[in-house]
Amino acid sequence: MIVAGTMIVGGCGPKEEKGTPAIDKNNMDLSINPAEDFFRYCNNNWLKNNPIPEEYTTYGAFTEIDQQNELLIQDIIKEVSADANAAQGSVAQKIRDFYNAGMDTVAINERGYSELLPYFEMVDQLNDKAQLGELLGKLHSEGFGGFFYAGPSTDPKNADMVIMHLFQGGLSLPDRDDYLTEESQEMRDKYVEHVSNMFQLVGIDAENAKAKAKAILSLETELANNSLSRVERRDPDRTYNKRSVVELQQSTPNFNWSVYFQNAGAPEFDSLNVGMPDFISALNGIILNTDLNTIKDYLKWKVIHGSASMLSSEFDEENFKFYSNYLYGQEVQQPRWRRILNATDGCLGEAIGQLYVEKHFPASSKERMEALVANLKVALGERIKALDWMSEATKEKALHKLSCINVKVGYPNKWKDYSKYTVTPDSYFQNVHSAIRFENEFEMAKIGKPVDKEEWFMTPQTVNAYYSPEMNEIVFPAGILQPPFFNPDADDAVNYGGIGVVIGHEMTHGFDDQGRKYDEKGNLNDWWTEEDATRFNERTQQLVKLFNEFELRGHHINGELTLGENIADLGGLNIAWDAYQMTDEAKANKSLDGFTPAQRFFISYGTIWRNNIRDKALERRIKEDVHSPAEARVNRTLGSMPHFYEAFDIKPENKMYIDPEERATIW
Ligand SMILES: [Zn+2]
Repeated sequence: MIVAGTMIVGGCGPKEEKGTPAIDKNNMDLSINPAEDFFRYCNNNWLKNNPIPEEYTTYGAFTEIDQQNELLIQDIIKEVSADANAAQGSVAQKIRDFYNAGMDTVAINERGYSELLPYFEMVDQLNDKAQLGELLGKLHSEGFGGFFYAGPSTDPKNADMVIMHLFQGGLSLPDRDDYLTEESQEMRDKYVEHVSNMFQLVGIDAENAKAKAKAILSLETELANNSLSRVERRDPDRTYNKRSVVELQQSTPNFNWSVYFQNAGAPEFDSLNVGMPDFISALNGIILNTDLNTIKDYLKWKVIHGSASMLSSEFDEENFKFYSNYLYGQEVQQPRWRRILNATDGCLGEAIGQLYVEKHFPASSKERMEALVANLKVALGERIKALDWMSEATKEKALHKLSCINVKVGYPNKWKDYSKYTVTPDSYFQNVHSAIRFENEFEMAKIGKPVDKEEWFMTPQTVNAYYSPEMNEIVFPAGILQPPFFNPDADDAVNYGGIGVVIGHEMTHGFDDQGRKYDEKGNLNDWWTEEDATRFNERTQQLVKLFNEFELRGHHINGELTLGENIADLGGLNIAWDAYQMTDEAKANKSLDGFTPAQRFFISYGTIWRNNIRDKALERRIKEDVHSPAEARVNRTLGSMPHFYEAFDIKPENKMYIDPEERATIW
């Protein structure tokens, strides 16, 4: 992915439209030396003129397009909602009723938390830990968390088939380390207070609520103690551990897995992938050693927590106060219309997407993108052939993998069928849960069946892109094919420095420290000679070091956590640069607006990363996000780009300068 995938964003007005200048000097600060701080040279006036609105924690080019998209989606919702006679069961009826029920705060406030009572009763019926499998299966199928995560995905060693996967889970703070480090003590105290407040909102007295919250923190700390870190989880070999259901059952004798899977809605199967076997074995002891009442309180907490934004305003506000305000520094809630719009988009994404592309995605964009991708593929192929550190044998396999990369642009060939998803005008909570059950059924039905190669894992309106190692494919939703990434009116330099780098980024993921472990068919299958793998690792360690050294507002970036994304950024820049050099425009080498084509390429790259971020959000992102902060993606990555030095005359005394032997060159 080019950015973290779970941001919920929105806004108040389209800022970039057709006719957008290719490079807008008003956003730059020409008084800043590009050799000292290229990020601010490209963006300083934009950064000054676009302070973070109080309802955001970060605000940048991605947010701007998201805001513009939200207005388009809002129009779509308005348009379909205007049809009061939409047939029951039609997509229009579903979109209309989902949105309206979500906006009906009078009904939502009247209901309070009454819609949670059936789940509380379910939990209260747990009289014996031996019944936990049944209860947890039911709760998971309703979208509530607890103890671990189970769900279908491709079998990494047989990429044509879908199998069940088990992963660590059950935490409520964003990261394992938040439970374990000294520096997070205040966060844990605030967390206990928050859980206690939520329990008081469902009628438990203050003293009891506090005691329950403390016991829940202890239980979650045990889970955290047995969890892998984010860096450890990045190793696909480590998280692939095929087991038979019999073996799984032997590793956790006190938890009934067949009953669990049955109640979670899964069909019968014989084997599965256990992502974190040590965590799963530890679970047995954790369940044995935890008091039955604490397990019940923990599961009730998970029900409340998972529902907070759908309940009456006091739950919603308390949840916001801890998770958005305290943890990330967001000052106020997003307006309700935007939150419900995003929820509608979340539950009916492809239905909205279909209407979105009909109106807003020209066929010409798809053709131009496909041509760009083809040029980038050629450029990466040439780069692989020219690598001085890789043997001919491995090069041949890399080129074969490259030639097999599948490309999807704009929107899926086959749309998701929502006919089994029921939406009513009555209850927002029920509509969301009916979506969760519909998705759960859809997902679980995949187990034991061939992978559907037509499926998309982002909706067309998403402003992002991805590489799937198991499908060996790159996917560019319609949403990202807009300025400043893709501007039909701009020169090639600007488009190659924008969407070209995004395309190269996704392609490079097929060859980053994770992606390189998968073959051309998407199987986790080592195709490297040992010497080539060693040389690759030496080179990537150079990049780890460069990012570890890079500091932003007192925080060092985690070079290991962000390695895959940093490899992809650097590869993307190199590939897009080479592809651009093949164009007639680059060969003509004519300056425009006072910038050479090379300068325009890099300014365009700097521009897509314009972004303001709050201190707390920056601190959290550095811990959680596999992507480096925007400023580092510009100021650190470009330090390893030889052509950048020529384009802006970077000298050893400049801040952007990195010693040639310290620079990273991988792809
Ligand atoms: Zn990425």
